[in-house]
Amino acid sequence: MPYIQFLGAAGTVTGSKHLINTTYDSSGKEGFQALIDCGLFQGPKEWRERNWQDTPVPAREIDAVILTHAHLDHCGWIPRLVKEGFGGSIYATQATIDLCSVVLPDSGHLQEEDAEFYNKKKASKHDPALPLYTLEEAQDCLRYFKPVSLAQTVQLSPELSFRFVRAAHILGSTMAEVTLQTNGQTRRLLFTGDIGRVRNSEVAPGKVVHSGPQEGETADVLIMESTYGNRCHPNTDPRPELANLIRETVGRGGSVVVPAFAVERTAKFIFMLKELMESGQVQRIPVFCDSPMAIKAVEIFLKHSEEYTAEAADLIKKFGSPIEWPGFTFAETAEQSKKINENQFPSIILSSSGMVTGGRILHHLAQRLPDPKNLVLFIGFQAPGTRGFTIKSGAPEVKIYGDFVPIRAQVAALEQFSDHADPPEMLEWLRTFRNEPTVTYLVHGEPAASSQLRDLMTKELGWNVQIAEYMERVEVK
Ligand SMILES: [Zn+2]
Repeated sequence: MPYIQFLGAAGTVTGSKHLINTTYDSSGKEGFQALIDCGLFQGPKEWRERNWQDTPVPAREIDAVILTHAHLDHCGWIPRLVKEGFGGSIYATQATIDLCSVVLPDSGHLQEEDAEFYNKKKASKHDPALPLYTLEEAQDCLRYFKPVSLAQTVQLSPELSFRFVRAAHILGSTMAEVTLQTNGQTRRLLFTGDIGRVRNSEVAPGKVVHSGPQEGETADVLIMESTYGNRCHPNTDPRPELANLIRETVGRGGSVVVPAFAVERTAKFIFMLKELMESGQVQRIPVFCDSPMAIKAVEIFLKHSEEYTAEAADLIKKFGSPIEWPGFTFAETAEQSKKINENQFPSIILSSSGMVTGGRILHHLAQRLPDPKNLVLFIGFQAPGTRGFTIKSGAPEVKIYGDFVPIRAQVAALEQFSDHADPPEMLEWLRTFRNEPTVTYLVHGEPAASSQLRDLMTKELGWNVQIAEYMERVEVK
């Protein structure tokens, strides 16, 4: 009997990894094995430690990876999978591949930096601490990537094929529609990856990719994310609030620090800043995009115009490339990054990682958190156990580089920037389905979020909804 096994993003929001095995019998014969996504666990140590565990089936026996998008919690374990012996193809859209070619080496670089830091501090019980994978290993895994265009059907084996459809989550993001032949019957499995927002520009302004996931789906088995299963996004335009927050901070002589991953959300955010500055709603203060991949991320974003909303296309036409904007600095080198700290005047600093789990944002926050003049502004989801979660939840201090840093700066969050559908948006999308799936497994959510979404879907749609458990294996009948 074919089965799906949840190797990650079950009971948590990170480490997305779902294995499909087309046949399995008691003699132990394995069929074609494909992983949908291969993400890194982030957040609490209990989960991060699982990055070091082997997959339940040896990596060399996995035949293919189908990658929905380029966020690290979906792609960040690929270099490790390759290191463990995987040698198959990794299928993704060209935009996802372009983003991975920047994101994965950067992740390898961060892994190396972390290991180096622990070795210096002797803070690891592993002596010496090793990186999960290196920058070089991350670069090496890129040769396994194969571009797949939307709606192109890829036949993986006689019984297994898939095609990508739009998820409208980030640049290049997709859902995977998998077709499985079993016992003479065809079964359709839909893996949502992360679901973008069903929206109009008033509800979620600044959105740069297509509006809403593909409608009119059919699925026998639905494997669906539930990140925002228990929270609704505000239905207000974030621009006036953002302008206010910036004006107040500048008024008291402070700077705005924004933890943001360089991919997607930074582009959205800086176009909004540009709009606010050009219209005179906020002062023209220096903006620093501080990330080794800052420029490359903008270039990839500008290259994939097929992904834009009409609103994004207009903004790009009007303002051109952010790299050329006066007052906007893209700090790629460590030297340029450190220089930002010498600046004593109000400025806006965007730096990764978005959940403050590592990267250059750490030194900006270590310097600016103790001063009440400054503002830390969150524009993305903060997983429990991350420093971002600690800061956002009002803690008095946070551990950075092994020391406790007092949090006296103002802390604010704008949830409108989210790239994940909220419950009303998910229901709106699910109601466009042509059939009722036999079963829905909820993944990629904290337990409270998943269970609330299960209850809502059961009540509103009457569907059979279950919450996937870590390592659980479910048969596809
Ligand atoms: Zn994502």
